Amino acid sequence: MLIKRGARSSMDRTLPCGGRGCTFDSCRAHNMNLNTPIEQLPRIGPIYRKKLRKLGIKTVQDLLFHFPHRYEDFSNVLQISKVKAGQSCSIQGKILEIENIKTWKRKMFITQALIGDETGAIKAIWFNQPYLTNVLKKQDLVCLAGKALADQRGFYLSNPAYEKISEYSLRGTVGYIRNSNLTHTGRLIPVYPETEKLSSRWLRNILKPLLLEFRDKIPETLPERIIKENGLLPIKQAIWQIHFPDSWVMAKKSQERFSFEELFSISLWALKERMRLAQERAFAVPMNLDLIRRFVKSLPFKLTDAQKKSAWVILKDLEKPRPMNRLLEGEVGSGKTVVATIAALNIVKAGHQVALMAPTEILAKQHFKTVWELLKNFNVNVGLLTGKNDRYYSKKLKNQGIEISRKKLLEKTLEGAIDILIGTHALIQDQVKFGGLALVILDEQHRFGVEQRAKLCQSTSNIEHRTIPHLLSMTATPIPRTLALTLYGDLDLSLIDELPKGRKKIITKIIAPADREKTYDFIKKEARKGRQAFIICPRIEEEGKLEVKAVKAEYEKLSKEIFPELKVAMLHGKLSTQEKEKIMHDFKNKKIDILVSTSVVEVGVDIPSATVMVIEGAERFGLAQLYQFRGRVGRSRHQSYCFLFTDSPTKKTHQRLKALITCENGFKLAEKDLQIRGPGDFSGTRQWGIPDLIMGSLKNIRLVEKTRQAAKEILEEDPRLTSYPYLREKLGRFPAKIHLE
Ligand code: ADP
Ligand code: MG
Repeated sequence: MLIKRGARSSMDRTLPCGGRGCTFDSCRAHNMNLNTPIEQLPRIGPIYRKKLRKLGIKTVQDLLFHFPHRYEDFSNVLQISKVKAGQSCSIQGKILEIENIKTWKRKMFITQALIGDETGAIKAIWFNQPYLTNVLKKQDLVCLAGKALADQRGFYLSNPAYEKISEYSLRGTVGYIRNSNLTHTGRLIPVYPETEKLSSRWLRNILKPLLLEFRDKIPETLPERIIKENGLLPIKQAIWQIHFPDSWVMAKKSQERFSFEELFSISLWALKERMRLAQERAFAVPMNLDLIRRFVKSLPFKLTDAQKKSAWVILKDLEKPRPMNRLLEGEVGSGKTVVATIAALNIVKAGHQVALMAPTEILAKQHFKTVWELLKNFNVNVGLLTGKNDRYYSKKLKNQGIEISRKKLLEKTLEGAIDILIGTHALIQDQVKFGGLALVILDEQHRFGVEQRAKLCQSTSNIEHRTIPHLLSMTATPIPRTLALTLYGDLDLSLIDELPKGRKKIITKIIAPADREKTYDFIKKEARKGRQAFIICPRIEEEGKLEVKAVKAEYEKLSKEIFPELKVAMLHGKLSTQEKEKIMHDFKNKKIDILVSTSVVEVGVDIPSATVMVIEGAERFGLAQLYQFRGRVGRSRHQSYCFLFTDSPTKKTHQRLKALITCENGFKLAEKDLQIRGPGDFSGTRQWGIPDLIMGSLKNIRLVEKTRQAAKEILEEDPRLTSYPYLREKLGRFPAKIHLE
């Protein structure tokens, strides 16, 4: 990154108010506190402000809580004569010479310096940073940190990190300058995720003086007893040590403290939410056994035992005058929809309404059809409400579907004439009001919940009756038990751990580039048998450098060159709703053999005659996501296949993909995923909707259990958390953070 000279040299002063040895007078003059917006900080110009804002860093506090993701170990401070080639270390000395050289051959600037201490001298070389000669001058005392190399350029420190020091002395005589005074060298150096092109050096320069100024003002969020009992670092110490640790032990301890705090808050929040709901009222809806029996009899298949069991538990929940809060977790294809439909039918026939929310239009539409089909003979009104330019209609069953205007649909919903309203996020818009909403079903969006229900609660009758609807959240994203207990401690858990009879295990293979042709031939054979295939590509537009298969290019290639005799279609998020619908409709009706698609088909789509799932660039997807893709096939008696195409033969990739082949079920897979995935895997973290640090610490089951226990104890002692105002404030910000990403 190129930084203007002026900017860089001012950056090198280590204190926020400019001068070395600053007493922070100007900070005080600015009257800053933890909530001070970064705009008011000196030394952060408009460009940097914008970058920080993009990372969600708005205040001093946010900045202090922007943690490094790793450390560079330059704590090995050596006398110059002791430095060996290949070693990462720091040295301290005087700049004896420094100059810029332009290499004509490669048109590159080299800054070369000679640094000396009492034991000898060493060369330092920097590439393409000519401004360095403005910052570092002959006679300056410096600390340099980097790797020593020996090659055609001689023996030198390559691109070392540098900082000026005011004094130095040799180990063994007086001892080196104390490393807490150093920022970029001579210690464990924090390295921050370099998103938005914010360099770690810049962040260190900004953060260090801020920490010095503010660390004593950061309020302790954890109760003292908990800190003591669990041997945690107090926040004032931890916030310093996580940025500028004295040792690896301290780095780890500070991380543990913040992980603990995060997990503790999550547990606390979940337990409090559970307590809160236990005080609320909901419509108590008696189980109509006769009705349920008739419904089950009308199904074209026999329910599995796991389906029956979870339906029973849900129906029992609905009988209570307290809102249900249940997560129905089931293997992909285990038949959750029909279980939800049973609950919906019971509610509807007692005179109440049900809202069913799905993450995508495709899925909402599919649910609409499925539910309608399942309830055909039960005289239930089902409405569909999705997005922007959509059609809005309801089907008076037996009346074969009337398209109605959105306005009318909303009116009917308010009147209570729509029994089950199915839709996307459109359901939680302000205009949507229910006459008597008693059950909310959320499909495949376990991250949502609290807020959605809160929004849906604004329906008039609920306010009149002072009730809130029951909540059933369904997911096929398998969550390991420990994780579920912590993250969803507010939810009761039901599992469907059994697939309908007659399903065959999906044959999963990792396909090397050389076997691509063979796989295409195989797909042709399957197509001749009347089967269909999905081909999933990671992105819509060609990403050039990354060589990611683009749907459009892939579609062209497949339809013209590879499968000219087959019907190939393309599906991605940029198509209009009508186009998408038509394609899904045609695919379902076998008018399309191969569907090339982005991840829009990820969750929930149900096409029983599809038997082949091909995933391009499989290494680019998280395991949970791959698992979801694979679940799109294997939904009939025919043998199904999942082919993982990968051009990236790294061992880690292979190990990860292999887990998909070897794992028995989704829950085992999820645990494996957690083990394999390094804390730096952002996409993975995204999927769970929780920050990195916690992700890593969730592997530590002992820690997770300790935090749960601690949360329980605190709530027993002080249910309203009156003695812990900071903790309370933190929890207040939680729902959005956890459930909404
Ligand atoms: P998921 O749990 O992944 O949401 P779905 O509810 O979409 O699964 O069901 C997958 C498919 O299995 C559907 O086609 C559904 O009709 C079918 N199905 C559901 N329950 C059974 C069952 N007990 N026996 C046979 N097929 C079933
Ligand atoms: Mg589903």
